[in-house]
Amino acid sequence: MKKPIIGLTPQYDYEKNRVWVGPNYLEAIYAAGGIPIMLPLHTDKESLKIAANVCDGFLFTGGPDISPFLYQEETIAQCGVVVPERDKMEEDLFSIIIDTDKPVLGICRGVQILNVFLGGTLYQDIPAQFVSSVQLGHSQASGNSVLSHSVILEEDSLLHKINPKDYIQVNSFHHQAIKDVAPSLKVAGKSMDSLIEAVYHPGKKFFLGVQWHPEHLFKINRDSMNLFKEFINACD
Ligand code: MN
Repeated sequence: MKKPIIGLTPQYDYEKNRVWVGPNYLEAIYAAGGIPIMLPLHTDKESLKIAANVCDGFLFTGGPDISPFLYQEETIAQCGVVVPERDKMEEDLFSIIIDTDKPVLGICRGVQILNVFLGGTLYQDIPAQFVSSVQLGHSQASGNSVLSHSVILEEDSLLHKINPKDYIQVNSFHHQAIKDVAPSLKVAGKSMDSLIEAVYHPGKKFFLGVQWHPEHLFKINRDSMNLFKEFINACD
């Protein structure tokens, strides 16, 4: 059986002089039947295009906050560290792959930046900007693989096709979230406080972003494993 090659976007720490990908992303892609590779951070766009051509699908990984300038906002006090090199690399990659039908999965920062590149906006800080009668904990205190809130699945969404049920339970490690959904995307799931937790592109074969971290859950949680399996299956 052919194993699809999945290109992952890298983390970058300027102060520690490190470029890396968290091992859980690599393990999840491998467990689902794919071969994960880290895409280059410091290349020109033509070189990135050559690297992207090798890949059958793309995973936009979690990471730092996204520059609010990318969605035409000023930076509020509660916005976290932004990494312009990472924003630029992902912007270049997105422009290379958006007109292909190669599958795309976004996780945490990944769902946020896919939404921004398609014209959507973000809450720069949920506690400071998201008004809700119920205060759910989106930055959970418990460990990575602990489930902490539910996500109500939209019927007929890609997420509902992957896991045909009313809701799933997920972990939550984000202080930013989607505010306005990009025109070409649709909501796939929301938490009980009505925060958008997943979006998909109905015009693409597989284009899905989730706000939680299935890469920390796939070993113990069938819903999370299904997500990676369907992503890899779409990369044929
Ligand atoms: Mn959450």
